[in-house]
Formats: sequence, structure tokens, C-alpha cells
Amino acid sequence: MNVYDSARMAEILAPLGYAPGDDPEAADMVILNTCHIREKASEKVYSELGRLRKAKDRRSADGLAPMVIAVAGCVAQAEGEEMLRRAPFVDIVLGPQTYHRLPEMVARAHRAGTGVLDTDFPVESKFDHLPERPNAQGASAFLSIQEGCDKFCAFCVVPYTRGAEFSRPVAQILDEARQLIAGGVREVTLLGQNVNAYHGLDSGGAETGLGELVEQLARIDGLARIRYTTSHPRDVDAKLIAAHGSNEALMPFLHLPVQSGSDRILEMMNRGHDAARYMEIVAALRSARPDLALSSDFIVGFPGETEADFEATLALADAVGYAQAYSFKYSARPGTPAAGLPQQVPEEVKDKRLARLQALLEDQQQGFNAATVGQTLDVLFERPGRHSGQLVGRTPYNQAVHVVAEGFRVGDLAKVAIESCRPHSLSGRITGPAIAHAESEEGLSA
Ligand code: SAH
Ligand code: SF4
Repeated sequence: MNVYDSARMAEILAPLGYAPGDDPEAADMVILNTCHIREKASEKVYSELGRLRKAKDRRSADGLAPMVIAVAGCVAQAEGEEMLRRAPFVDIVLGPQTYHRLPEMVARAHRAGTGVLDTDFPVESKFDHLPERPNAQGASAFLSIQEGCDKFCAFCVVPYTRGAEFSRPVAQILDEARQLIAGGVREVTLLGQNVNAYHGLDSGGAETGLGELVEQLARIDGLARIRYTTSHPRDVDAKLIAAHGSNEALMPFLHLPVQSGSDRILEMMNRGHDAARYMEIVAALRSARPDLALSSDFIVGFPGETEADFEATLALADAVGYAQAYSFKYSARPGTPAAGLPQQVPEEVKDKRLARLQALLEDQQQGFNAATVGQTLDVLFERPGRHSGQLVGRTPYNQAVHVVAEGFRVGDLAKVAIESCRPHSLSGRITGPAIAHAESEEGLSA
């Protein structure tokens, strides 16, 4: 979501003459878009700011226009004024829900000698104030449809930093998708902290779920692939499961975080489901779409986690068989209920458990990749590879594939025979011409 937000910030600043650059030292403005989810990410912000301060001083010493330093995202939201106090050379501190106001903040920063702070949760939606997106680049793009969270898992800062759950209206999402497609995008990944809690209003004022939204998006001519992330087990409904079975554009890959396989820990985490319920949802999804590849997030070392609880997590991962997964050591976050729990797990125990879990998940990923060798899969090319004539694309199961693809371009879809696999990627050979995107219903009726 931060990648999406950064792209939108660049778009809203473009009319002021700003363009993204590679070298922070040479920049007129640097925006750090920050993440607060774990301590490690948060800590990086101040060390990064230390470096930027030196660059800013050098620019002033050289007599160049002063560098504007802005800190955006969830660390900014959580720290607020404290950040301006701790790092007075920062010009702007803004939260994830106010970046549509960046142009006026920049103007104020140029005028004022003091820092500008805007970490409100405004009544208006930022999405109503962002520009159109005809210049998105690449074959695949993110599209935020839902933000914030009301679930309050005991370990998580998101409900405090991103705010309450909010769904964008259907028409606005379809419009943004059409703009992206007009610019050459062929795959959209729908984003939300709880993307399947999506319940945006349609033009008649009726609530629309994610399953229905996917159906409507799939009818847009030119959109070949739809993905969504991150979904919550509690919000997987029948309509969404059905969409996985019937909608060709919806890719057979699903990130469905479980966090733990222990019912006791899931309860303490306030996840709202147990391990058996998760397994039921997985079974229902796989019965709709037998080749569905699954991914998850795991937390090891939640306060009070015993060896037996951790074994239950290993057992659940073993039972599901993931194509890919992310796993983290529990990180106590200020202001969350779990941070104050007794029985915090020692760091070295977390390290050991993480290593064991990651060994299992790594094995599963390699096994999954190896099983696709010999298959012919549709690959959407997303970027040039390291060697000339090479392109890198993705399979429906979200695996990266390296292909020698003379005569093909980024944005093309082609059938690729998968020939070999490495731990995190595949290579293969194109077996036919670029696949034209099938006429959608909308295209046919037009
Ligand atoms: N809404 C999603 C998760 C969003 S946060 C869900 O409920 O599944 C992304 C991931 O960061 C989480 O799935 C979790 O695994 C991890 N995470 C969040 N808070 C954490 C913390 N305090 N310590 C360690 N990992 C954390
Ligand atoms: Fe955080 Fe996800 Fe739980 Fe919401 S549902 S509190 S975003 S982990």
C-alpha cells in the first residue's frame, strides 16, 4: 500500500513541477513514506533522517535551493508533533490519509520557518481529491479499494495509524481501473488492509462485496488479470469463493494470513477464528479452484506462545502447503494490547522458531515451484530481465519467470513452457505468439 501511496503522491505533485528522482542527495524534496508495522521498520526512519539532514545541510552550504524533507506514512501518523521536535529539520509530517493536501503543505513549508504537521483523519476522502492516472507505467498496477481496519488484533498498529475501515465507491474504482488500462496496464492488484472486508457503495447506493467488485472489474475490456491483497479469513464469503471458481481473470493465488496455528494464540491475538475454521475456508476455496496457490503471514513468539503452540503453527503450515509465505518475529508495538502482556517470549526463542518455520516454508515454496516445471503457463511480462532479449513475468500463481522473449514486450501475455526452477524463480521457453486479451462481455456488447 505504501508503494501505491507513493505513486499517488508523485502524481499529485507532478503539476507543481516535481518528478520522481533516483538520487536523494540531488533532490529538491525528499518524502520518506514510512511503515510502523514492526519496530525494525520504524527504527529505520530516524537513521534515514540523519542521513538526509546531512544532505540538506550540504545543499544549503552549496547555496542551492533548500531541500524540503517530508515524512509520510504510519510512523509520521504515530509520532506526529514528536517527530518535528526530535527532528526539527523535517519540514512536513503527514499521515496516510492526508497526502491529497501535499501541494498546500509544500507551499506552506516554503513560506513558514516552522514544520508543517497534518496527521488528521479528515472527513473528506483523499481519493476524491487525487488526479486521474493516465500515466501509470508497466503491465501491473496496484489499486487501493479499501483502507483502515476495525478488527484490532492484539499485536497490530494498523487500526490506530491507518484509521477506521473505509471502502471506496465502486464507480471510482472502475474509473481508476479504466484509466490504468488505457495507459497499458493489464493486471491490477486490489489493495486493502482487509481487502475482502470491502463493502463499497454502487451507484444505486447498495453495498457491494469484493466478489461482486471482481466480477465488474473482469468485464472491463483489456483487463487480463485481477489479484487482491491482503485478505482476512473472517471476511472470505461465499460470493468471493464462487468468484475464484468462475472468474477467469481472477488469478489462482491468494494471500490469506493465518498468523498462528494455535487456537489459544489465535484467541489471544483476537483474530476471530480458530485453526479449524481457517482449514475449512482453505478447503472451500480449493474445492472452487483446485489449483489455488496459497500464501500467508505468520507471527512467531506472540506473548505466551509455548513450544506446543508453535508446533501447532508448523502443523497448520504443513497441512495447508503454501506456495509462498512471510513470517515475522512478534514485535511489541506501543499502544497495542499485546505489548503489555506478561510472558513476552525471549528473542533467542523467537529466532529459533522463526528459523524452523522459515525452513519449512522455504521447502514448501521450492516444492511448489518444482511442481510447475514441465507445465505450460500463461505469463504476463512485467519488466526487462538482466540479459538482453530477456523478459521477466509472472505465472498465474505469482511466480517470477525469466524468459528469452525476442519480439515480445512488457505487457504481453504468452504461453511459457516452464523448464527449470531456482529457489525463488522459474525459467522457461515461449511456445506461441502473444495471447490477445479475450473480448470481455463489455467489449462484445459495445
Ligand atoms: N490485515 C492483514 C495484515 C496486515 S499487517 C491481516 O489481518 O492478515 C501485515 C502483517 O504484518 C500481518 O499479517 C502480520 O503477520 C505482521 N505483523 C503485524 N503486526 C505485527 C507485529 N506487532 N509483530 C510482528 N508482525 C506483525
Ligand atoms: Fe492489523 Fe490485519 Fe488485524 Fe487489522 S486485521 S488489526 S490490519 S492484523
